Amino acid sequence: MELKVVKFGGSSLSDAKQFQKVAGIIRADETRRYVIPSAPGKRFDGDEKVTDLLYSLYKAINEQGNAEAVFARIKDRFNKIIDELGMNLSLDCEYTKIEKDLRNGASREYAASRGEYLNGIILSAYLGFTFIDAATCIFFDAEGNFDAETTNQYLKQLLKAYPKAVIPGFYGSLPDGSITTFSRGGSDITGSIVARASAATLYENWTDVSGFLMADPRCVENPRRIELITYKELRELSYMGASVLHDEAVFPVRYVGIPINIRNTNRPDDPGTLIVPGTEDEIPDTIITGIAGKSGFVSITVEKDQMNKRYGFGRRIFEVFEKYKLAIEHLPSGIDTMSILVNANSFKPLRASIIADIYRATDPDSLVIDEHISLIAVVGRGMVRNKGIAARIFRALADANINIKMIDQGSSELNIIIGVEEKDFNLAIRSIYAEFVK
Ligand code: ADP
Ligand code: ASP
Ligand code: MG
Repeated sequence: MELKVVKFGGSSLSDAKQFQKVAGIIRADETRRYVIPSAPGKRFDGDEKVTDLLYSLYKAINEQGNAEAVFARIKDRFNKIIDELGMNLSLDCEYTKIEKDLRNGASREYAASRGEYLNGIILSAYLGFTFIDAATCIFFDAEGNFDAETTNQYLKQLLKAYPKAVIPGFYGSLPDGSITTFSRGGSDITGSIVARASAATLYENWTDVSGFLMADPRCVENPRRIELITYKELRELSYMGASVLHDEAVFPVRYVGIPINIRNTNRPDDPGTLIVPGTEDEIPDTIITGIAGKSGFVSITVEKDQMNKRYGFGRRIFEVFEKYKLAIEHLPSGIDTMSILVNANSFKPLRASIIADIYRATDPDSLVIDEHISLIAVVGRGMVRNKGIAARIFRALADANINIKMIDQGSSELNIIIGVEEKDFNLAIRSIYAEFVK
């Protein structure tokens, strides 16, 4: 039996007009039964996202700022939606409770989650669907990690009792009942969790672009749409900065192979992008599927004669990063060199200690730190079948006069990652795009 879970992002629910479009989409298809709303996003360039306002509210309450003014802006966003939809609904009791909770020490995550919570109440009333508070069915463990199995078992049963429901995205509860959230953009993950628990046939993720594009539209003009992409490619692209879908959103659906369809709320007839488990037999018509990138990396290059013969050399380096709980993002290595790429903001406060520890642990011949590095991932399942992709990337960058700081080819041959200086980031993406997409 067909069953769709539909998630609507912040821009899709930013005002009453957008709510009407969303309701139209849901009502057009009886199988769209479970709805995951985000908090109201930006209505126009320069507007404020309600989630950002809620973080400001938390700060204002806890640091003696002008909380009334911020809260007024938040209430105004929701009240306007209700009024313009002509609904008979008041959120006044909810506002009072939120303010009371925050004054009594409720967390920053609790504050942030109220955008999805309130938007969920409005949307469920507008659609005539049951409202299910995510705090009652999305569970995190005591360390704050999402508890996939407990949630899935519980939610599977719960949803059986409600054929049509609205479940707010982004948050859930800790074992003590308090609220916590996923990282920013986390409503995408909630959608995926609900899709798995309800054994959906499709997870539709409605946003403000007509699908996953081959590059960030803020960098490349009018990038081509990706029609079909695998979970693995998507994970690489979204982890590397293609922010259209949260990079952790593939995990829940990956277990059960539910496809995800990225769609545009403002152009509902566009087919969007279909994200599927795998396409063994299908030969893609483009060599590369997409390009994404992120800035803000530091590379630490350690050189030591005959490094390859020194048993445990790598382990000693890893232990340093483990000690400081600093995630290693990439690890390109040569015969006598190893580069460790880490997030610059996390590295900064630990810099002196980490360098000292690496010297102590490995006595390197040299240790060079390169700052302001951007990483660009060129991803495609078609790359395995084609020779000379790396050469084409390098030529495109050389022609644009861009210096390559590092290269890392994943062993799956699904991606090639290139490090460039931050100043060359946009030009590098545009040059690679132009080389492969004529
Ligand atoms: P939502 O609020 O619906 O969750 P997001 O802002 O999180 O939407 O994601 C959609 C945005 O992602 C687009 O408006 C676009 O600016 C940005 N984006 C970045 N990379 C890509 C890409 N490769 N394809 C499409 N959109 C992208
Ligand atoms: N509203 C949250 C955010 O702005 C979650 C989301 O939109 O997915 O990050
Ligand atoms: Mg998003």
